[in-house]
Formats: sequence, structure tokens, C-alpha cells
Amino acid sequence: MHHPGTTAPDRFPAAERFADGAQYIAGRLTRGTSGRTHTVVDPATGTEVLTYALAGTADVDAAVAAARAAFPGWAGATPGERADALYRFATVLAERAEEFARAESTQCGKPLKLTREFDVPGTVDNAAFFAGAARHLQGQSAGEYSGDHTSYVRREPVGVVGSVAPWNYPLQMAAWKVLPAIAAGNTIVLKPAETTPLTSLLFAEAATAAGVPDGVVNVVAGTGPEAGEHLVGHPDVAMTSFTGSTAVGRRVAEIATATVKRLHLELGGKAPFLVFDDADLDAAVHGAVAAALINTGQDCTAATRAYVQRPLYEAFVERTAALMETVRVGDPFAPDTDLGPLVSHAHRDRVAGFVDRARSAARVVTGGAAPGGALSDGAYYLPTLVADAAQDSEAVRSEIFGPVLVALPFDGDDEGIRLANDTPYGLAASAWTRDVYRANRATREIRAGCVWVNDHIPIISEMPHGGYGASGFGKDMSAYSFEEYTQVKHVMFDNTAVVRKDWHRTVFGDR
Ligand code: NAD
Repeated sequence: MHHPGTTAPDRFPAAERFADGAQYIAGRLTRGTSGRTHTVVDPATGTEVLTYALAGTADVDAAVAAARAAFPGWAGATPGERADALYRFATVLAERAEEFARAESTQCGKPLKLTREFDVPGTVDNAAFFAGAARHLQGQSAGEYSGDHTSYVRREPVGVVGSVAPWNYPLQMAAWKVLPAIAAGNTIVLKPAETTPLTSLLFAEAATAAGVPDGVVNVVAGTGPEAGEHLVGHPDVAMTSFTGSTAVGRRVAEIATATVKRLHLELGGKAPFLVFDDADLDAAVHGAVAAALINTGQDCTAATRAYVQRPLYEAFVERTAALMETVRVGDPFAPDTDLGPLVSHAHRDRVAGFVDRARSAARVVTGGAAPGGALSDGAYYLPTLVADAAQDSEAVRSEIFGPVLVALPFDGDDEGIRLANDTPYGLAASAWTRDVYRANRATREIRAGCVWVNDHIPIISEMPHGGYGASGFGKDMSAYSFEEYTQVKHVMFDNTAVVRKDWHRTVFGDR
């Protein structure tokens, strides 16, 4: 057991690393001036990682001013110059990979194998992708669309972007917000969740080390109601990009709308996992366990509702529970750990509450408890399978955001697809079948921003990520996200040099 203020040898030494403060404004670390502090806690042990001064509104103002000052220079850099900086950024991130992995595992409780093999390499690849994307602006060609004019379109950066990010993938969310924004010539102020600021700060430092000019990337670590709302409502911020819950997304949208900002919302999910009766059952069971438990289920695209066609249902439930029981829950820094704790004790209790309330009308087949023993100081919860819950029950309709999969049977294909679409969310989904017609129908009819066939979770820098319905709008990653962070301008040149133009007759005089 470790004591507050000390760092276990393999953990990230946050107190030393952020001795100068936990805000990053105009290319350097500074201390927040809100007058309040926050303590980052390692959820695996319950011990203190870092107590830091939270950003207040004055810090947000300073960060926005730095971003505003940096904008003309960065927007005026050539695509090649921005691409060079982003390639160097990818290199610096790769060189510092181990520090990022340890910091992310320390603040989130993620197993090191996940941060080393998923969060960090994904971020390096995103940086390399956007370095390339920076040089590939595309659009309509210039031409004489009216016989008398030459028209063309300029694609321009929006200005200062204000981003608000969640705690579940702090590094990747920082990357998904910052990289397309700066690749397109914007500058940015990012507000990470105050519980998990460490890797966003390291990310901003790495940008500076790569030669990204001061003020292009700023981080304000403060609370949502104080720093978050001030950033979203700031008159000098031209665009808000938000990733988080649907409830907070609504509030952010209200504030951004009142100040007429471009808005990008990546919200909650409740992904269906649809298993047809011709599916490879073994593949579906392995896929379900991996997709439900990734990041301890704190993933907006995690498999949460497994609808299994009746002939396979009982076998699916039995085998999924058995496979879940082989998952090794433990210290994120131990090499044989598969599943770490939830992000906090409060969140663990929230997850447990969903499962406890489901018990009266559904079967908790495995899990449904904290592991106890040597893990009792951490925010752990066992992999949990809930079967036979009613479609209209809370466990099926609400985002639990923990290592909990709910399984339900269905009969005909129509019913399966109807149930898959029966929540307000629409972020991601998967269909499991060896029948190409069933697969094709599911990809067409499931309303979600991503539909996998015979897999569930993989993402890739070149392809868009984003929601339908209550999961929000706007895309992260891919060339689509690059477009989100630009605006198009029509430029029109008169080619005639005629004083009295033909169209003037619609306003004065005759032909
Ligand atoms: P959250 O909505 O509670 O918080 C997200 C961010 O908003 C945090 O930085 C928080 O401080 C800030 N915030 C809170 N209140 C605010 C306010 N009034 N004004 C401005 N900012 C405010 O979400 P969370 O609990 O941190 O993250 C989990 C949620 O994020 C889940 O719903 C998950 O599905 C969603 N998520 C979605 C995606 C996606 O791509 N669609 C990705 C990751 C997470």
C-alpha cells in the first residue's frame, strides 16, 4: 500500500513532472488561479497522484488570448510547414511513448498493455495521419460557373477552437481534438476532464518540443461548470468541439448556440452487438468479451447490448460468462493483468448501482460484484454479464460505462434490427453473421456512425468516428474531421470589366 504524496516506483511521477503547475498556456506550464485545487487519484490504489491548482476563468482567458495571438502565424504557415511540425510531433510522441503509457495508466487505471499497445500508438498514428492530411486539402475546382466570372473556393481555418474532453481516453481524445484542428491551421484551447489532465499536458508539451509555435496548443485543467462553460461561451472562441456525455453535451450546445459557434459533439453510446443464428458462435463470444471489457467498459463504442438470435442464445450466455471468468482483474502495472479498475471509486459505485437495480428483473450470470481481497482499495468491478433484462429496462437503455454486458434473445431478423435501433443513441454497432445478405442489410439499416461486421471496436486514423441521433454529430479522425475544422469561402472574380453589368437591370433601368 502506498501513502499519499509518494509514488510507487513504476507509476508516473506526476508531482515532480508538474511541479511548475498543471496548466499549459503559451508554450509553458503554469499554475491555475481559480483558488481551488483538485487531487488526481490512482484508481487502482486509491492513492494521491497529484494535487494541482485548477484553472479559473482568468486562466481560460489567458489561454484563449494565447491561441488568438498565435492564430495568424499558424494559419498563415504553408501546409508543408504544418505537416513538418506534425511529423515531428508524431516522432516526439513515439520517443516519449513509455512516459505517456505510464501517465495514462496511472491516472485512469488502464492496464499498461492497453496504453502501450492501443492508446499511445493510436495517437502517434493519428499525428502522422494529420501530417499527411494537412497537405491534401481538396475541393471543387475553380471555373467559370457563371459565364462572366471565375469562382473558386478557399478552405480556411475557423479560428480559435475550444475543446472539452472526457476522462475515458484522455490522450486519444486530446489527439482527436487537437490534431485535425491544428493540421487545418486553427489554434486550440483544450479542457481535459479535471480528474485526468496528465497526458493532455504531456501532449501539449510534446507539441512544443516538436516545434509547434507557442499558443497553438493550450490546455486548461479545470472543472466543467467553471473552466468548461467559460471556454464554450468565450466570445473569442469560434468553434466548440466536445466529447462527453449526452447530458453535458446538451448544456454545451445551449451555451455554444447562444454565441453562434460552430459545434461538434461526440456524445454517449449504447452499442448493440447483433448475433444472427448463422454466426460463428466462438468468434461472437470472443468478440463480445473483448468489446464489452475494453478499457473496463468505459468506451463509448463498447458492446453493451448483445442481441442473440434464439437458437444461439443460451449457448452464447453460457460461453460468454465462462470466458469473462478467465479475464484477469488486477493491478494495471502487473504484466499479467487484463482488466484494470474503473476510473474512480464513485464511478465504480455508479456501475454497481445499475447492476444491483437490474437484479430483480434479470439474471446476473457472472460478476456483479467488486473482487475484494488484495484489490479492495481499488475501484475494481468484476466482468459482468446480465441476461434476460427487459428491452425497456434501465440496464438496456442507459449508458452504464463499465464492464457490464447485457444479453437478450431475439427471433426474426426484423426484430433483431428493430431492437438494435431501439435507443436514442447511434454511435456504433456490430452484426455477426456469415450470410452476406444479412450483413449487408444490417449495415444499411442500423442507424449508427459505425457498423462492424464480425468484429467490434477497431478504429483507424483514415476512417471517421462519430454519432447519429443522441450520440451527437461531427466526425473525429479521417479527412472528415479535417473538414469540420475548416470553413469554405466562395471567391468570385468578375471577368468582363463592364461597368453596366447585365444583371443590374433587375435593380435599375431597362435592358
Ligand atoms: P462528461 O460529459 O461528464 O464530461 C466531459 C467533459 O465535459 C469533462 O471535461 C467535464 O469536465 C466537462 N463538463 C462537465 N460539465 C460541463 C459544463 N457544464 N460545461 C462545459 N463542460 C463541462 O463525460 P465523462 O463522464 O467525462 O465521459 C464519459 C462520457 O463521454 C460517456 O457518455 C461517453 O460515451 C462519452 N464519450 C463519447 C465519445 C465519442 O466519441 N462519442 C468518446 C469518449 C467518451
